Amino acid sequence: MAKQSIKFENQQHFTSKCIHAGVQADPTTGALLPPIYQTTTYLQEAVGKDKGYTYSRSSNPTVSALENKLAALEETPSATCFTTGIAAISAFAFSLLKAGDHIICSDVIYGGTVRFCKEILQKFEVSASFVDTSNPKEVEAAIQENTKVILIETPANPTLKLTDISEVAKLSKKYNLTLAVDNTFLTAALLKPIDFGADVVIYSTTKYIDGHNATVGGALLAKDESLNEKFRFTRNCLGSIQTPFEAWLTLQGIKTLPLRLKQHSENALAVARYLQTHELVKKVYYPGLENFPQHELAQRQHQGAHGGIIAFELKGDIQTGIDFINSVKLCALAENLGAIETLITHPASMTHGPIPKEQREQIGIGDGLVRLSVGLEDPFDIIQDLDQAFDLVAKKHKELSE
Ligand code: PLP
Repeated sequence: MAKQSIKFENQQHFTSKCIHAGVQADPTTGALLPPIYQTTTYLQEAVGKDKGYTYSRSSNPTVSALENKLAALEETPSATCFTTGIAAISAFAFSLLKAGDHIICSDVIYGGTVRFCKEILQKFEVSASFVDTSNPKEVEAAIQENTKVILIETPANPTLKLTDISEVAKLSKKYNLTLAVDNTFLTAALLKPIDFGADVVIYSTTKYIDGHNATVGGALLAKDESLNEKFRFTRNCLGSIQTPFEAWLTLQGIKTLPLRLKQHSENALAVARYLQTHELVKKVYYPGLENFPQHELAQRQHQGAHGGIIAFELKGDIQTGIDFINSVKLCALAENLGAIETLITHPASMTHGPIPKEQREQIGIGDGLVRLSVGLEDPFDIIQDLDQAFDLVAKKHKELSE
């Protein structure tokens, strides 16, 4: 029965899969939504005979429902869900790397990934190089005899720099490496890394997959089932499985994933166009803008839209940035991204604080960079809020100069 339903789900369109894949009405009660299986343990019929579940650190039916849905969306044989995105990233590394190995990461990447490589992997004698993965030549030059894995983030957090996945996949195949793509910013609704040759897709489901600022979670999906088995084994050893309640909430959030991503993208484009016209803004980074340096790659790699994240640099000094962020009213100053509410972040002091200042500046994360996770409010209201914040900043600076 399971096989037949998977076949049927594969024939559905993405939007329908977001609603129906991985879940079915509860066979005992008819409840349309899958129950939250809040249980540690499961009755076994006889020694060695169980219904597929024994202990909720290894697997749990509500978490399995989320995994089946994610696997249907990404078109992988299975998925493995974790407590957080960084738990997924660490399980990925612990599954594939051992002492003496080397990992290549994008130079612009989530700050927690950098901290994990530098502070944890290094202790286990795994070395890491952070290279500009948007340039395949730099990637090839960084490959060593002991390199095992390439981990890229595209669009990268927070500068939105893109990596051409097909170009890096050619290298990973040539040198027999595993290529993983952190697809947190676009999700399978807008980017399918496996179609471009990636081996593993990584998620912080905390962001768009859940989409409501309600849960933390992560996921790993490989096209090769033997890799998925390794991830489940590592998760069981580390004890980092997603909780049933978080999985259940995430299952509800995913139902509107394509609709949200479409609207996030439309709103972000409108806000990016507005920011481009403002005299206090030095530069706007959004892959959907015609003058984004990698706009052509964005058109080729993304499925018709470019997500809800914008980065922009303000004119002036660090105080200008702080004044601006402190002046917004509708936009919330917060660490997260990818949810209904518009969130504003100062990467240098918040999400990318773990990266040393000099290294941060080299990769374009200056003190004046602002990241905006454009939400689903009316774009007019978001623009109006930014506009009043710019006015306050301009007024303050005028008063100071008088
Ligand atoms: N990957 C990306 C691109 C992120 O932005 C983040 C968090 O901001 C993570 C991974 C880590 O996810 P989590 O916060 O769920 O551990």
